[in-house]
Amino acid sequence: MKISEIFAPTLREVPAEAEVISHILMLRAGMIRKAASGVYTFLPLGYRIIKKVIEIVREEMDNKGGQELMLPIIQPAELWMQSGRWHVYGDELFRLKDRHGRDFSLGPTHEEIITDLVKGDVRSYKQLPLLLYQIQNKYRDERRPRFGLMRGREFIMKDLYSFDKDNEGLDVTYHKMYDAYIRIFTRCGLRFRPVEADPGAIGGSGGTHEFMVVADSGEAAIVYCDTCNYAANVEKAESVPAPGNTDENMKEMQEISTPGVKTIDEVSGFLSIASDKLLKTLIYRTEAETVAVIVRGDREINEIKLQNLLGSLQLEMADERTVQEITGAAPGFSGPLGLGDIRIIADKEIMQMRNTITGANKMDTHMLNVNPGRDFEPSQSADIRLVREGEKCPRCQGILMEARGIEVGQVFKLGTKYSEAMGARYLDENGKEKLMVMGCYGIGVSRTVAASIEQNHDKDGIIWPMPIAPFHAVVVPVSVKDKKQLELAQQIYKSLNEIGVEAVIDDRNERPGVKFKDADLIGFPLRVVVGTKAVEEGIVEIKHRRTGDVRNTAVTDAALVIHKIVADEIAESMPIS
Ligand code: ATP
Ligand code: MG
Repeated sequence: MKISEIFAPTLREVPAEAEVISHILMLRAGMIRKAASGVYTFLPLGYRIIKKVIEIVREEMDNKGGQELMLPIIQPAELWMQSGRWHVYGDELFRLKDRHGRDFSLGPTHEEIITDLVKGDVRSYKQLPLLLYQIQNKYRDERRPRFGLMRGREFIMKDLYSFDKDNEGLDVTYHKMYDAYIRIFTRCGLRFRPVEADPGAIGGSGGTHEFMVVADSGEAAIVYCDTCNYAANVEKAESVPAPGNTDENMKEMQEISTPGVKTIDEVSGFLSIASDKLLKTLIYRTEAETVAVIVRGDREINEIKLQNLLGSLQLEMADERTVQEITGAAPGFSGPLGLGDIRIIADKEIMQMRNTITGANKMDTHMLNVNPGRDFEPSQSADIRLVREGEKCPRCQGILMEARGIEVGQVFKLGTKYSEAMGARYLDENGKEKLMVMGCYGIGVSRTVAASIEQNHDKDGIIWPMPIAPFHAVVVPVSVKDKKQLELAQQIYKSLNEIGVEAVIDDRNERPGVKFKDADLIGFPLRVVVGTKAVEEGIVEIKHRRTGDVRNTAVTDAALVIHKIVADEIAESMPIS
């Protein structure tokens, strides 16, 4: 293609709402445009990149026996009612009515519709395992659409659903998909980590991993061990209880006046006692009950773990009035003593603590020497706290490190959650009816493109990894007015495309500086400059965008040299195995 003809309007000024680099650069390079909050148009350059990622995803899914199909985006509410998610999914589900007043949703994910399909047409164990996938737009009315393609309300996802005879079958399929994901993200040139994760709204209880691209702009926090390969989303990361001070004798409880001293920091400062000797008591509400939750003073509650433990749909901190009603004092003076019949959920770590300090459930008062087990008995003690960098690894003697991650994919063992709710059964070898065992596996295609830019850019623009670059090379005649230069450039451009290198030619009557700037911004991996040296000495300059390496090559060799670089880099991106 000629750059003069490509519809890729570059921007000098970027809207202030573009905060992350991928969003800024894709707007500037004319790859995307916003249509509405969280809804984007892919312009030709942007769409070429999307298609490259899709092709990699498709190859790897097909390699594992996946069969591509296309499910409807518009889904009848009845199916969502069968699974129970019509009410559970909440405001993120785009809902609409047809002219007859019937309810539909725009698919945010497709477990219901695919389970319904398979249930209707698969009867025998001989048809299993079955791996079906699609690559399609998804719709989620996100609370905070932001960061361009990173969190859209319309976005492109690959979703595969697997149907197996039993858990062993699911394990095999899950492992295949896990492996395919490693291959896909490696081929896309990403630095990533699979991490243990929380299942969230998709549900299922058999385990799940997220694939996280490591980047400071990532919305997710992950921890990973400096010694073994344990890695987890902090939502899920298991805590190791600190040893505590069980060797200390239990002292007598004592009330202490703490006027206006409310927060952990204030109490710790006021009493000159480290915050890890304190207990923090917070009152939470779910749709069904009010509970008191206790962690060590310097820890934070992990609300995801807590919500999973409580099995609730909603969870929020109680308001001031409720705290007052339950504890008899304003927030800041809550403690575990004398809370009546509400449940007390304690982090397991606090059971190892002696002579702690807590709120007294009385205005301006705290208690000294409160001993869990002696002075109060939690209804339940479990791992409900957030894990932080520097803590012990739950698997080995290593130390946990923290990083930010962009979730580009997730694999789930769903088990029989959907097949049970929707009645997806098959007849086994003995003619016995059994539930299919399911898994689901998503990749955010558009988010993967954004994540790649987060990892691959410099001050001048994007640096595409070869396998997903919109074009491999740009040929730049320094002056298009020089007929000879233009001719040579066109020759090289033509040969490149003939031998399978995706090349463009910058035929615009612009200063070379302008063309180089645009080439850097768009991120072509290779740039071929055809100037006076080409005309006089038959030499062109090939510049490698990522390394900055420049090499001079004979005009006649240029196409082959470039072809080799492209082929080598694509081959290098292929994982071994
Ligand atoms: P998140 O926690 O980021 O909201 P999720 O866990 O809800 O994502 P999944 O249901 O696991 O997402 O969807 C599969 C993949 O789709 C995700 O791993 C992510 O790459 C992508 N994805 C999810 N939501 C969005 C979105 N709003 N915009 C772009 N991509 C998304
Ligand atoms: Mg997810």
